Parts: sequence; structure tokens; C-alpha cells
Amino acid sequence: MNGGPRAKKARQPKPETDEAGPARMLSIAPIDGPLATPLNEVGWRLNPRLVGLLNKKGVRKVGDVLFLLPRVYEDRRTLKKISQLVSGERGTIIAEVKSAEEQYGRAGRRTFRAVLADSTGTVAATHFQSGGWLKAKYPIGRRLVVSGEVRRTSYGWEIPHPEVEPADDVESSPVHFNRIVPVYPGFERHEQRSLRELAFKIASRFSNDLEEPLPDDLRERHHLMTLADALRYLHFPPADAPLDALDAHASVAHHRLAFDELFFLQLGLALRRQGLKVEPGIAFDTSAPRQQIATKLLPFALTGAQARVVAQVSRDMSRPEPMNRLVQGDVGSGKTAVAVLASALALQDGYQVAVMAPTEILAEQHYRTFSKMLAPLGTSVRLITGSASAKEKRQQRESLANGVVRVAVGTHALIQEGVEFHQLGLVVIDEQHRFGVMQRHTLMAKGPRPDTLVMTATPIPRTLAMTLYGDLDVSVIDELPPGRTPIETRVYNEKARPKAYQAVQAELDKGHQAYIVYPLVEESEKVDLADATQGAEALTAQFPTARIGLLHGRMKNDEKEAVMLEFREKRVDVLVCTTVVEVGVDVPNASIMVIEGAERFGLSQLHQLRGRVGRGAAKSWCLLMAGYAKSAVAATRLKVMEDSNDGFVIAEKDLELRGPGEFLGTRQSGIPELAVANLGRDQALLAEAQDEARAIVAKDPELREGRHARLVKALEERWEGRLKLARVG
Ligand code: ADP
Ligand code: MG
Repeated sequence: MNGGPRAKKARQPKPETDEAGPARMLSIAPIDGPLATPLNEVGWRLNPRLVGLLNKKGVRKVGDVLFLLPRVYEDRRTLKKISQLVSGERGTIIAEVKSAEEQYGRAGRRTFRAVLADSTGTVAATHFQSGGWLKAKYPIGRRLVVSGEVRRTSYGWEIPHPEVEPADDVESSPVHFNRIVPVYPGFERHEQRSLRELAFKIASRFSNDLEEPLPDDLRERHHLMTLADALRYLHFPPADAPLDALDAHASVAHHRLAFDELFFLQLGLALRRQGLKVEPGIAFDTSAPRQQIATKLLPFALTGAQARVVAQVSRDMSRPEPMNRLVQGDVGSGKTAVAVLASALALQDGYQVAVMAPTEILAEQHYRTFSKMLAPLGTSVRLITGSASAKEKRQQRESLANGVVRVAVGTHALIQEGVEFHQLGLVVIDEQHRFGVMQRHTLMAKGPRPDTLVMTATPIPRTLAMTLYGDLDVSVIDELPPGRTPIETRVYNEKARPKAYQAVQAELDKGHQAYIVYPLVEESEKVDLADATQGAEALTAQFPTARIGLLHGRMKNDEKEAVMLEFREKRVDVLVCTTVVEVGVDVPNASIMVIEGAERFGLSQLHQLRGRVGRGAAKSWCLLMAGYAKSAVAATRLKVMEDSNDGFVIAEKDLELRGPGEFLGTRQSGIPELAVANLGRDQALLAEAQDEARAIVAKDPELREGRHARLVKALEERWEGRLKLARVG
């Protein structure tokens, strides 16, 4: 990570030392006014070292200092006597320096040790460094304030790497003593004092320049303090503030800021949602006869859940405002059928359909499904991928632009410049999590106002769905088609490998097929590729009678398709592959999957992979190879896979274990990061924030009312331009 506070994602568990962890800043970028003043123009002299340090962490403006969040707090309301220190807790004492010297510890490591005393005992301040500056810091006979985490050693009390301050201003200082003081993450102990001083000065001179972004009535309804009060409280809590709540980032001030973050996130999303709704869209004819024609295209009857979602989709489509709906459904729940039905409705009304998938393999599979199912309508379906020749591309574009091709199925090649439609009516996006919000909006902009159906097989916990898809209406397919037997999942270690292979052989003997998946981590693609290639060779020896195919991301598109075709047509029994097979691939005769290096995958990803089996009537297996280094955490994680086949349960666990940043890859998702709000903890707050945001946008869809001017400015500060980008449509 490149160190900028805004690059920080998930909230970290509380680290051991105060200075641990990068600086965290509220995602607010002051755009004008006094808060946008650069630190070096602040009007008083600043320590250049401190400014350099702050700049390095992305803290450049006066406002940025205000938005820097203290990680923990130190109770300096009353200073302690040395005899009152408690091992393992932070403590602050005043004492006189008795001795200060460098010592040589084990392995010749130099340490510095100063001994200080008050009337009740002595304590050693230790630094595992050396240098003249340390001696200067501890002049013999001087009274100092020393604070830090205290520990009891065989030599007595010790405070390693303490924060040391002259005790001269103890009685008079309103900043450093006689109060609860903030400790900022990402700064060393000895930097805390000057940073605290700066924060205090800025808080007292500038916090009144903060405009309150939230409307008063809203603030009062939710009992929220003003932003200025919250920030002052955060940096310099009142004497009666509850320390535990402060440390847990759950004080009234944190609450206000968490609401702020969630509210402006939701307001941005609500605007996107509304922005799409207010523009006139297509009111499709979804009358019963047309629905019957569509339903007859499917070779099976819809499940109850599918029927419900289809009803929601066709209701959306019949309305004049554009549909903007997300369909969530576990792997194998039959999302494609819903998309085919929606497409059939749009086609009968004379419109074109675009279907976008994240990989070429999946695009190709959808191409086959759509071609086959839509054939009775006489629809011309075309596959559009990046690997076509220039001439083919020109032809493809022409036939889309003149309307000869009615359905275009493709990868992100579909959203590239130059691809135009004659009359695009419906956009279907499969496996949404692979695409950013931006890409979705780019495709939507290709039609006058097409309806959009987004399908995702990564079940997303409700709070996250609200965060990520706050601009969409959500449907859930929570039922699998009949006749499925649950997949049985087992975690194996290296020693049990022969057993795993026996299980594969047993399935092959029944005429079934197998997947063997190798992890593909971007940074080491070559290594993994070697793994998969070598794996394929070793497996040839292991399964001498089986026909083994190899599929990986480096292969050319037509090679990939050829291998998939062989696997689908049962000319290949064992498909050795990297994660290219992850999404959507549908080969019902495959009944066993071995996942190598399973500990390297996220749970949701494992669940996705696993969903490639269990698609037929036969009982299916998923064997997770956990390697040698099976840490306790890895074991707990993988155990979840043995215990549950429910994508939502797994997603919740995954979120819990990995944090939202990693779960979502927030950086790509184009939404502001959360510094205070915690999606696990603040679910109720999120719902409140969403209600308020949607209510405001419903009444004033473009925030043009004068009383909403501050909201618009705050949105710009919090989304930093990303909102406009996202509204390209
Ligand atoms: P996913 O939701 O993972 O995209 P698919 O749409 O690929 O799932 O469907 C998985 C499999 O289930 C496909 O083989 C599909 O033909 C089949 N299927 C879907 N809906 C039904 C249904 N209602 N009855 C029987 N089979 C179905
Ligand atoms: Mg699918």
C-alpha cells in the first residue's frame, strides 16, 4: 500500500503499540475556504519536520489535520504516582531524571535507559536505539512527564519508547495535561506532542470555519452533534468523556461522524439511482401473451424464487422509468433464466439487448445459452470479445449499429468506444462484482435509457449490498432448482492427498468429470501457471486412463474455448485449470472439484468455485487442499466451507474474517472509504442514513433547493469527483 491515509481500507484490529497503524483520515477533501489552507501557509511557524511527515501521509491542508482520527486516548486527567502504575496499561507520571546511559544488550544491541524517580519509586524509560539526542532528552535532575505503556520487568517498572515531555507546563498547559489527550496512529510517540499541539491550535482557530453539512432538522431527529463539535470532541474530549467509548470509536462524536460517512455515501448512491430514474426510459409491453411467449423459451419450469424475481423484473420493465435492478442469487440458482426472460420481453418489443460477462469463457457460455433459448424468436445473437480481428470488429460494430444483430453478448469489449447500438433496450450484466460501478454506468450510457439488470453470484451481506448497490433495487433468488444434491466439502492436508485422488478416481470411474483448480494470484501468475502446468503433467501419471485438459488465463481465446468445448462434450475428463473457471461455467456432469492452495482464496471465491460442481443430479464433492502450513485461522476459515453450502452465510463469515475492504475491493468500487463507520457494527445507522438520503432525493432529485446547497458541497468533498464520473450516464 502506498501509505496515503485514503488508501487505507478495512479498520484494523487494535494494535499493540500506540503508534502502530497508518494514519486514518475521514474521507473529506476541503475544497475551498480556510480549511483548504495549505499547512505551510497556516500563519504561524510550524516545525518543518512535522509538516514533512504530515505531507507524506497525505495531510496537506488545515482541514486534513482536523479530519485525522486519533486512534486511542490517554487519560491525563490526573497524573499517576509511580506506585500507582499498572502493568500492561498506559500510564503518565511526573518524575525526575536520576541517570541516563547507553547500555549494550544481548548481541551487541545498544539500548538507552534513563531512570526516573518520584516520591513513591523509580521507573526506567528505555529506547532500543542510541544517539546523543536521547541523552539530551533526559537531562539529569530535570522533571519530565513520561507516558507510555508500562510493563513490569525483572529490573522493575519500565516504559519502552515513552512519550517524554518537559514538566514545566504541567500546571498551566491546556493542551497536554489535565485532560484526556489523543494519540494519533501512524506517528511515533515522540511526534505526538507536536502533532497534538498543532491539532489543538487548528481545532481552536479553524473548527468554527467548518460548515455544518447536515440539515438541522435531520441532525435533531437523530440527536447528532454538529460536525465542528464532533471534531473538537474527537481531538480534545471533555473531561467527563467515557474513555472506553473513545477508544472503541463509539463515542457520541464518533457516532456523528459514522452517520456522516454513511449518509453521504447513501446520498451519492441515492442521487445516482434517482438520476437514472428521472430520465424517461422505456415502458416495455410485458403483457401476459408476451410473458407466455418468453416463458415457453425455457426448457424447464421456473422455481418459485425465479418466478418472483421475473415478476419484479417485468414490473420494472413495464414502467416508464429505467429499471436498475440487482439480482442476487447463489451459484446455480438460475439467474441466467431470469435474464433470458427479460431479454425475450425486450426483443418482442423491438429492442436490442446487451449481455456483459466478466470473462470470455463466460461470455461464450452465455452466447450459447442465449442463442439456443432465443432461437424460436428468430433472434440474431452475436458474441463480441476483445480478441476479434479488426475486420470482424468492424463488422460486429456495423451489425449492432444498424440493428441486424439483436443480442450482443460479450466482455468489457462491449463498453469500448465505438460500440453503438441501433436501439438498445436492455442491459444485462452478469457477475457484477467483477465490474466497477463506473463500467456499469458506461454500458448503460450506450442506449437512450436502457433498462439494466445486474446479476451477481456473490451473495453480499445486506449492509454491504446497501453500500455498494445503494443505487439499485435488489431481488434475491433464494432457492435452487429442484433435483440438486448438496455438495459435500472436505478439507484435506498434504498427507491426505492420496485420499483426495482416490475420490477423484472414484468419480471418474462413474463416468463423471473433475475439476482441479490452482490458485492464480496476480503478482505471481507465472509461478501459478507453472503449478497448473506441472500439476497437469503429474496428474497424467496419477490418472493414466483419464483424458486431461489444461485451461489457464494466458491461453489464447480460441484455445480456451476449444478446451472448454472438449470438457463440455466429455472428450476431456479432468480439467486442470486456474481460476478462469470460477464464474458461471456450467458442466453438469462434473461432480468433483479439487482446489489446490485453498487457504489462498477468499471464502466467497471458494464458494463460487465450488458452485461449478453440484449442477447435475449426482452427488458432488469439493476437496479443499490446505497445504502444509495450515494456520489456525486458515483452518477455521476452511471449516466454514465444510459446514455451509449457503452463499449468504459464507459471505457473512468472509466479511467478518477479512473486513469489508478486502471483501469488496473498495478501491475499485469507486465509493468513498469509511474511516469511522463500521459496516458490521453500524447496520442500524446505515439503514437510517439510507432512509434520510433517499427521502431527501425523492423530494429534491437534483438537490437544487437552496437549503440543500451545503449537501452538494459536502458530497463533492466526500466523493471527490467520483460522483460526477459515475453519473456519466
Ligand atoms: P447461475 O445462477 O449460477 O447463473 P444458471 O443460470 O447457470 O445459474 O443455472 C444453473 C443450472 O440450473 C443451469 O444448468 C440451468 O439450466 C439450470 N436451471 C435453472 N433454472 C432451472 C429451473 N427452474 N429448473 C431446472 N433447472 C434450472
Ligand atoms: Mg450465472
